[in-house]
Amino acid sequence: MAWRDLNPPAPPPPFPEPVHSGDDPRAHFCVLASGSSGNCSVLRVVAESGRPERTILLDAGLSPTRTRRLLADRGIGLPEIDDIVLTHLDADHFHLGWRRVRDCRATLRLHRQHLGKAERRGLLLRRNEPFTGAFESGPVRIDPIMMSHDHLGVAAFRIETACGGSLGFATDLGRTTDAMIDHLAGVGTLAIESNYCPVMQADSDRPAFLKNRIMGGAGHLSNEECAEAVRTIAPAASVVLLHLSRQCNTPGLAARAHTDAPYELTISTQTEPTPWVPLAEASPVSGRRAAAPPVVRVRPNTQGMLFPARG
Ligand SMILES: [Zn+2]
Repeated sequence: MAWRDLNPPAPPPPFPEPVHSGDDPRAHFCVLASGSSGNCSVLRVVAESGRPERTILLDAGLSPTRTRRLLADRGIGLPEIDDIVLTHLDADHFHLGWRRVRDCRATLRLHRQHLGKAERRGLLLRRNEPFTGAFESGPVRIDPIMMSHDHLGVAAFRIETACGGSLGFATDLGRTTDAMIDHLAGVGTLAIESNYCPVMQADSDRPAFLKNRIMGGAGHLSNEECAEAVRTIAPAASVVLLHLSRQCNTPGLAARAHTDAPYELTISTQTEPTPWVPLAEASPVSGRRAAAPPVVRVRPNTQGMLFPARG
């Protein structure tokens, strides 16, 4: 029987009213790794009792073995993963090994545009739910918007939790659009790619076709394009930079574009997970373009991965 028959589309249940959590955020986000060798982040929501309520992977581009170890280091078992939500199917965002993991009971969530390719490549899991619009995973509402990246596109997400935290997640964007800025405007926490320094990219020994793919509007965002997107999205509290190129970027260069910014900046790496980032509540401009976004001032910082905001 085709998997579609096993998973008939059902309308999502109504999203519960937010329960504001004050100083004790119940939704947290951690980038286990990010970069061209593999991308995987965890979104964890706990109930008021402290009991885990939902565990979602955003992309699963690390091997299941490595993912299992990194999750175990954070007290999370692989069978606890409820959903694997994919931005797209590139190998650095969905590792082939997930097809063979017996104790993974997660539902694979992928955009319908990616479904045919996933079927042809045998990438589907036991449970699969394609999306075209917003869907719900327990107390988490996930609203996608498709962006240009290579020929099948990539999904960026606005994610809202019932406990009030909100997250924008955008990687492998190619370019930003007004629609994407509007979609993510005012999220509490914004995770967004800051892939390359244009000078390092131009000076690299990469072939011209690869440079053109990356910088041509269907590949990745530069540090400056990322910072401009952050300025207009105007996240309420914190920013996590994703997918830094190891060959054509450095954490210091990526951070420089956010110097003295009015938000906490965390820079993900390929080798070390970020700390847990609490998901902040969306700002009042949430869901529409900020009329007067705060100006991002520039501050060089090449030390460490966590950059606290300055008053
Ligand atoms: Zn990628």
